[in-house]
Amino acid sequence: MKTQSAPQNLAVIVDRNGTYQSAVLAGVKDFLRTVGWSQTLFYGQELNFQSRAHSNASEIYSLINPKNHAGILFLAGTVGNNCSDPQLLEFLQGFQPLPVVSFGRKLPQIPSILTDTKHGMRELMEHLILDLGLKRFCFVRGRLNNPQSQERELTVRNSLAEHGLSLPEDFVLTGNFEAHTAQKVFLGFLGLHPNSLDCVICANDDMAQAVIKTLGEQGIRVPEDIAVTGFDDVSESQYTLPLLTTVRQPLFEQGVAAARILYNIVHGLPHETDLTGNSALVVRESCGAALSLQEQDFLLPKFAELPLRERDLYQQLVSSLNQSDLAFVRQMKNHFESDLRQNQELEVWYSILQTWRRQAALELSPENLAKFDATSSRIGGVLVKTMQTATRLVKAERQVHTTNNNQIAMSLSGHETLETLMQDLQTNLNGLGLNNYMVALYEEFGLRPSTNARVWIQKSSSNPDMGRTFKTLSLLPESMLELLSEGTCNVYPLCIHEEHYGYMMLNHPDQWGYDGERLAYLVAQGIHRVVKTQALKQYSERLEQQVRIRTEQIEQANLELKRSLLLDGLTGIYNRSAFDDYLHRMWQQHHKSQESLSLLMCDVDFFKKYNDRYGHLQGDHCLQVVAKAIAESAPRPNDFVARYGGEEFVVVLPETNAIGAMRVAERIQKQIAQLCLPHQGLERFDIVTLSIGIQTMIPSDQTSMQDLMQSSDMALYAAKQNRNQIVASRTWGVQTN
Ligand code: GH3
Ligand code: MG
Ligand code: MG
Repeated sequence: MKTQSAPQNLAVIVDRNGTYQSAVLAGVKDFLRTVGWSQTLFYGQELNFQSRAHSNASEIYSLINPKNHAGILFLAGTVGNNCSDPQLLEFLQGFQPLPVVSFGRKLPQIPSILTDTKHGMRELMEHLILDLGLKRFCFVRGRLNNPQSQERELTVRNSLAEHGLSLPEDFVLTGNFEAHTAQKVFLGFLGLHPNSLDCVICANDDMAQAVIKTLGEQGIRVPEDIAVTGFDDVSESQYTLPLLTTVRQPLFEQGVAAARILYNIVHGLPHETDLTGNSALVVRESCGAALSLQEQDFLLPKFAELPLRERDLYQQLVSSLNQSDLAFVRQMKNHFESDLRQNQELEVWYSILQTWRRQAALELSPENLAKFDATSSRIGGVLVKTMQTATRLVKAERQVHTTNNNQIAMSLSGHETLETLMQDLQTNLNGLGLNNYMVALYEEFGLRPSTNARVWIQKSSSNPDMGRTFKTLSLLPESMLELLSEGTCNVYPLCIHEEHYGYMMLNHPDQWGYDGERLAYLVAQGIHRVVKTQALKQYSERLEQQVRIRTEQIEQANLELKRSLLLDGLTGIYNRSAFDDYLHRMWQQHHKSQESLSLLMCDVDFFKKYNDRYGHLQGDHCLQVVAKAIAESAPRPNDFVARYGGEEFVVVLPETNAIGAMRVAERIQKQIAQLCLPHQGLERFDIVTLSIGIQTMIPSDQTSMQDLMQSSDMALYAAKQNRNQIVASRTWGVQTN
């Protein structure tokens, strides 16, 4: 295991991978590379984000800790959009003792890197109003509560007021810094106020591009019909047509400065507390300045104001006019390409070349001027080619990544288990040219996931931590710390809505170019689908199980209900209704089989007197005992004993002839006699006795069940004459076998 020294890594708290953010991060990386440090970019979301779908993403910031990072660069200007200063300070409190530098917003007691947006915005307004004579403006602001947007808006309002121009309230639109929102609100505005504008000023470039697109779709030309301007000067503005007039924030340089200040703080070196960079106007085509050559000339930099390098190059060009210009043109080509690599805008070279031309016109002979023009036009050609290549590369790269993203999205959907999803993801990640990667999933998902996570996949599958569980507070298991040690490490939360599943770390080469944020979203979506499908499946299985149990319970209850409907409440033997059923069934069976069917009718003797003497309760008890005795006397499986009503009982004896029936009757009487249930006050007996009537029949077409009952009842009646008797009916002349 690696012993851990002081971390040489900065954590960057960033909300998303937008054009603004990547310009800043390019500067940060540039500086850290020179000192051999790495950076880990934590892509969460704006804190307190309105949409719950994203608000949880900022949980990922809690992974930052002193064990892995030496300091924090906090992009407060975007991450803190929805927070007050005290809220942000409280948030940062959680990361103590790590030093923090704030970017894009001044935070009390914290070194902050800021841009004076007023400066460039004023330049822009003066240019639009004074140089171009525009009068009717509309302003598309960013987020309502964003201080930077507010400052830009205020500068626009002040400049207009100074020049006696008005900005009606309904000519200020809220585009939230987002292209799609800007497009929506601007389209609405156009519907309400057609032909009412000279110029649309946007608080950032993304919204300006959206406005230009919207105007184009309406057949309105930029800049011929309406001028459009942006803010930020993100790199795309330099390649899309018409080239965007904007205000440049020195984001790259400020990124460098931010990283340097943090580095110095960590090393106890002297450093600036706050740093404010100046914004500056960048005039291109979308404001309409290019339409007038004269005005463009007016905007050209003076030769003396050119940077040293550009003035040197001019001198080299002039002194080489009498030689072949091949070497010089090649040298210029190298300059363009190196500028491009460093994210520098190339089209400033247009104005530099023009300034050179003006200077040349002043000091060169006509002959030399002609040579100068020849070389200069070759340089111009190389410049255009380089820019075209860059544009093509950007486009091609985007194309490749869109195709790739779609393929990944396809292959990550439709998985049934996390295992297969992760295998698939691993295959995909292996093909993306990453230095390293890791996907860790929490042991328990949810709004507040567990603090344990498991490494599901990692580039080197032989890592001893594969599949192991570790505390997420340390971000990485110890053996994986090399993930942080080189290049750029990006950490993306894997979450959808309220569900946190884990996080994905990507360590990619500098010129990687894929959209890691989108990739993380696709992964989270894939996991979400699997988990939800599984939950749904489990739920329906549970439901089925419950239904099964309930059905069994209901069947049991039904059975009991049926039984209770068939049983006599007092004695627990069958009741009359059960008897009716049973006798009916037996009648039919015996009709078919032509076997003998016997029926016994029993009646307790002098029971009225028993009640009178011993009371009803005792009478009830007596009936219970008698019932039990009768039931025990007819033990064959098909013998059937029921209480017919009152103190009368019936016994059905299937496949039993008259002799057998007589035997059962005698057994019953004997059983009752043995019970010796006292019955005082009678003339002949002093115990409870029973009279029994018997009828045995083989059912035929001429006889019925009623005949069987009637004649056994008549036999009982006969038995009652002397009581404690058994009488077998001979009415139906059944042989006694
Ligand atoms: P016999 O010898 O002619 O059968 O005379 P008996 O008194 O037994 O017959 P009778 O039909 O005159 O009277 C039946 C009595 O059985 C009347 C009634 O009070 C009693 N009895 C009927 N059902 C119940 C019962 O559920 N509990 C009690 N304790 N007595 C009952
Ligand atoms: Mg009776
Ligand atoms: Mg009786």
